[in-house]
Amino acid sequence: MIDVHAHFAEEGYDFPAEWEKIRAAGVNTVILASDTVPHSQLHAAFARAHEGCFFAAGVHPSDALRYDKAAEAQILRLATERKCVAIGEIGLDYHYGSEEKEAQRAAFVAQIELASRLGLPLQIHSRDACADTLSILREYQKLLSNGFLMHCYSYGAENLQAFFELGAYFSFGGVVCFKNARRAVEAVQACPLERILTETDSPYLSPFRGEKNSPSNIPVILQKLALVKDMDMGELMESINENALRLFPKLAL
Ligand SMILES: [Zn+2]
Repeated sequence: MIDVHAHFAEEGYDFPAEWEKIRAAGVNTVILASDTVPHSQLHAAFARAHEGCFFAAGVHPSDALRYDKAAEAQILRLATERKCVAIGEIGLDYHYGSEEKEAQRAAFVAQIELASRLGLPLQIHSRDACADTLSILREYQKLLSNGFLMHCYSYGAENLQAFFELGAYFSFGGVVCFKNARRAVEAVQACPLERILTETDSPYLSPFRGEKNSPSNIPVILQKLALVKDMDMGELMESINENALRLFPKLAL
């Protein structure tokens, strides 16, 4: 099983016990997504030291003001590592207001260009910014040939087709297990099987509300997705593994 989006940097997990728990749960591949340059470096170090662990390097929209030439040079250097499978998480987040819209857009576009030069896919974070995200992706569609993931996809079934047509993959996490998950469940139903992935976004969004999340919860999420898709869990897992390898070919290297 695979977790395509989790965070370990500065989150107070008890390693190596936590990693053993993750492996014991049957989760053999984890991609650590990064918010900042220091987190990208911490995740790179963790990935180097753990079999089955990979990382994405990038600057989150909340840190867009800190994306400069020096940051770009660091990400560029990390991205050439064998275990760096994507650039991310990058994107737009207007949840806490949108006064930094221009900086967010600039950092997003610069990292789309960087990933394209490197031949890497993207991990995209987009919250309360559906229209602007779509318009940037359409504008830079030529640079998206390495594929991109809409992590923790939250824009409902009604917007899924627009992202799908641009080539998006969609990852779903603990939110699909919540009691009021109607919107997320409808999005899973609408999502073509060949574009679905599993994530936890650990330490956030545990399927068990109030708990710190862990990639070891992937089986719980996979079980719920199989239920929604009316599929055998093993069959769904196989599709997801194939999807992950197609979107993140460096997982196989
Ligand atoms: Zn994240």
